[in-house]
Amino acid sequence: MTNLKYKRVLLKLSGEALMGDLDYGIDPNVLSSTADAIVELKDSGLEMGIVIGAGNIFRGAGLQQSGIDRVTGDYMGMLATVMNCLALQDNLLKKGVDVVVMSSISMDIITESYNPLKAREHLSKGKVVIFAGGSGSPFFTTDSAGALRAIETKCDCMIKATNVDGVYDKDPAKFDDAVKYGNITYDEVIQKDLKVMDLTAIVLCRDHKMPLKVLNMGVKGNMQKAVQGEEIGTTVN
Ligand code: UDP
Repeated sequence: MTNLKYKRVLLKLSGEALMGDLDYGIDPNVLSSTADAIVELKDSGLEMGIVIGAGNIFRGAGLQQSGIDRVTGDYMGMLATVMNCLALQDNLLKKGVDVVVMSSISMDIITESYNPLKAREHLSKGKVVIFAGGSGSPFFTTDSAGALRAIETKCDCMIKATNVDGVYDKDPAKFDDAVKYGNITYDEVIQKDLKVMDLTAIVLCRDHKMPLKVLNMGVKGNMQKAVQGEEIGTTVN
């Protein structure tokens, strides 16, 4: 057991992060290294819930641009999250992890149906719980679903693992003088309109006092440092 600052954490992974250098879908190497990082966290004694997006497959807004009804497109996006969750479950199972997928859209043959009390029970028993299907409602994002699941399952912290190493005052890909925040409040994020998560997710975390850590999951050891309380990425609280 390592010294952990948090007992239970909700990890939010974007679908795009699973894509690696591909244009679409899941890069098996990225999937495997993501699973390795999760195994390491799990072995340190952390209770972990995971929410995965689907930007590597479908997003409702993008589908709408190609003529598909937004609500239908959003359901397609939510169903696409299930595929990512099953892929991660498969890899974790192969690595010997006790893992379960719970979906907010019932599909009893391949996942359990989401139930917050049951999810807490799984987490308490040391199972990794992967939450599929987003929130189950159109017009939301998986960031909001992550915030919801973190609050519902009584996590101590939400970690948003991205390919950027924290929250900046402006886009670091476009501006050389962009400055990274070490710590920032939810109200500052809202006032400055910083692109951390969508507003629903930010307000949910703020109102329920859920700390958020934004970090680069591509850097080995970052997540481990974050759960041990080291100053990694940006902390929003
Ligand atoms: N989605 C939704 N409701 C939710 C979560 C997701 O309708 O509660 C849909 C929405 O179309 C979204 C897509 O699923 O664009 C994929 O999720 P997201 O864009 O959050 O994925 P990420 O950017 O994290 O890969």
